[in-house]
Amino acid sequence: MSQAEVQETLAKQLALVIDLNVCVGCHACVTSCKEWNTSGAAGPLADLNAYDEQPTGTFFNRVQTFEADSFPNTQTIHFPKSCLHCEDPPCVPVCPTGASYKRKSDGIVLVDYDKCIGCKYCSWACPYGAREFDEERKVMTKCTLCVDRIYDESLAPHDRKPACVKACPTGARLFGDVKDPDSDVSKAIRERGGYQLMPEWETQPSNHYLPRKITTSACGSSQDEFRLGDFLRTKSVPSATAEEGTR
Ligand code: SF4
Ligand code: SF4
Ligand code: SF4
Repeated sequence: MSQAEVQETLAKQLALVIDLNVCVGCHACVTSCKEWNTSGAAGPLADLNAYDEQPTGTFFNRVQTFEADSFPNTQTIHFPKSCLHCEDPPCVPVCPTGASYKRKSDGIVLVDYDKCIGCKYCSWACPYGAREFDEERKVMTKCTLCVDRIYDESLAPHDRKPACVKACPTGARLFGDVKDPDSDVSKAIRERGGYQLMPEWETQPSNHYLPRKITTSACGSSQDEFRLGDFLRTKSVPSATAEEGTR
């Protein structure tokens, strides 16, 4: 799908907006995502060798925790990451079977497991490492924006939200239509400096991040904003120092 076609067709784009200022890295979003999706339409999500030396698991949402800057002014950053439901997703056109697709109705990027042949082209194409190969079923998986939950009319309206959003104890995760200027997510992006991850890759991620306030003085005043994209541009997320709590 060309960029012009994407812009033309997408009147609605559901997405997450994640507030890095209040995420405490508790992994409630990780475990609630795993629980909902392993027992839902996208599951089961495989865990292999769980008690052996090299465990692997399928998680649609992961929180990476790492340190930025230098001692004594280090910042501990908790960075939740799932599929960003890009408006121009490079994972879609590379798929040889049409298993990967982007819905025109709401912009959610999904995988049709029945068509997926497990070639992994899409995971190589995704610049964010957001795809998760299920080693048991040999199919590609990823965040579905809880599509089997958000439209479920048997749930009370306040429960028709992604599992991760419902579980977050600090309210760090917002969910809604980023194309609707009056939605909570659009207001948060507009009023609080929400930004896309690595916009120079021109994928137009729909998920946005709200910047962290950096506290630099002993009296606790906020003096600056930490923008994750700027940090990632200067250093790739260091695997030696990043603690991926779920891997
Ligand atoms: Fe595709 Fe990756 Fe963008 Fe998700 S984050 S839509 S998997 S390119
Ligand atoms: Fe398509 Fe599946 Fe191959 Fe990904 S792994 S490109 S979804 S067939
Ligand atoms: Fe997981 Fe649903 Fe949140 Fe996506 S929206 S990270 S599938 S809980």
